[in-house]
Amino acid sequence: LPLGKAPSSFFLSSQAKMSRPVQAQRLEGVDKNLWVEYVKLAATYAKVNLGQGFPDFPPPDFLKEAFTRVVRGEDHTVHQYTRAFGHPPLVKMLAQLYGKLLGQDLDPMSNVMVTVGAYQALFCCIQAFVDKGDEVVIIEPFFDCYEPMVRMAGGTPVFIPLRPKAPKDGKLMSSADWQLDPAELASKFSERTKALVLNSPNNPLGKVYSRAELELIADLCMKHDALCISDEVYEWLIYDGRENVRIATLPGMWDRTVTIGSAGKTFNVTGWKVGWTVGPNQLLQHVRTMHQNSVYHCATPTQEVVAQGFQRELEHYGKPDSYFIQLPRELQQKRDQLIQSLVAVGMKPVVPEGTYFLVADISEFKSEVPDVPNSDKPYDSRFANWMLKNKGLAAIPLSTFYCEAHKNNYSNFIRFCFAKEDATLKAAEDILQKWKLEKAGP
Ligand code: PMP
Repeated sequence: LPLGKAPSSFFLSSQAKMSRPVQAQRLEGVDKNLWVEYVKLAATYAKVNLGQGFPDFPPPDFLKEAFTRVVRGEDHTVHQYTRAFGHPPLVKMLAQLYGKLLGQDLDPMSNVMVTVGAYQALFCCIQAFVDKGDEVVIIEPFFDCYEPMVRMAGGTPVFIPLRPKAPKDGKLMSSADWQLDPAELASKFSERTKALVLNSPNNPLGKVYSRAELELIADLCMKHDALCISDEVYEWLIYDGRENVRIATLPGMWDRTVTIGSAGKTFNVTGWKVGWTVGPNQLLQHVRTMHQNSVYHCATPTQEVVAQGFQRELEHYGKPDSYFIQLPRELQQKRDQLIQSLVAVGMKPVVPEGTYFLVADISEFKSEVPDVPNSDKPYDSRFANWMLKNKGLAAIPLSTFYCEAHKNNYSNFIRFCFAKEDATLKAAEDILQKWKLEKAGP
């Protein structure tokens, strides 16, 4: 029947309706995302938002200036498609920088690939390596997309929590006090293990894995012939002069590791969504196949600007005016400011060694927040909701970063982001102070 002649009832008939399942099986169980709910709630109730991880201060001037130069300049090619696996100036800069950091002679064309943020790098790597029946070890607490990404690839995530150890002498806990149990970690590996996802510095704890911890992981990866997907997006945000060891530099690990980074975190431009993955060609060739058959290539102008940003950083490498030195220095002050505010009201922050997040123990506040009997939500989630609606302060429950089976074991902490203007942190402090006074009563 020609379209124009079809009676309208034809389209309403049962034949016109889909009766078969629309959703592909791989989406089963991964269709809910807590962030969607939090972002919406925070937009409605937050006076101060320390929930989602993004800075509310501007990126460095040299990057904003480069952006203007690039988009206004004479070279119109920056507005067109570029090379699929990464804009040549950017992959060249990344190869230079990571060549230095990883102690490898890197070929920009085969050892580096640019992605739509680190998020797409994770997706491409997991899709490229994980098959049905493969197991992937994920250390908890974890950046929440790892689990659905592994499941969508047909793999089975195998979770192992970092175990917190109480600090001595009434000191504040440090993210270093959250450790892997070596025997427990070894028990998670088998011949089915295809990969381990590592995140150091870790979101949400701020843990920076020590060399000894990484050696433990590396030994198990080698023993079981597993890959390491190393998410290092917070690589420059490390405090108190702590060493950042990259797992790809450990003996035997280069050949089985893909290292993932993000301009969003490196230059405070989370909205640009420029990320990358670095590794040996025998691994990256498969990641390129995924990229080619999904996104194909990323926005050219932002890649050009990030390339210029790295060029500037390479020229200032190790010098006091390097952004890689200035940013963590500024953030360390903000970290300490937030720690003080939290301690003052009786929350117990876990001092992070890296990232721009910290988690705080809210046990002391339990009596404060009315509990909801028989709720299917972990306590920290109810607490964060209550705090947002009643105090206007947004934070993220730590249980969000655990698998379903472990959520209730780690539900006494909430995560704050301290990559915020001093005024924002002061506003948070004011809310907490007022709350403390109310708590104390008249
Ligand atoms: N990995 C971790 C650990 C993160 O925290 C984030 C962002 N919050 C990403 C990856 C994603 O980075 P991007 O914004 O570059 O996609």
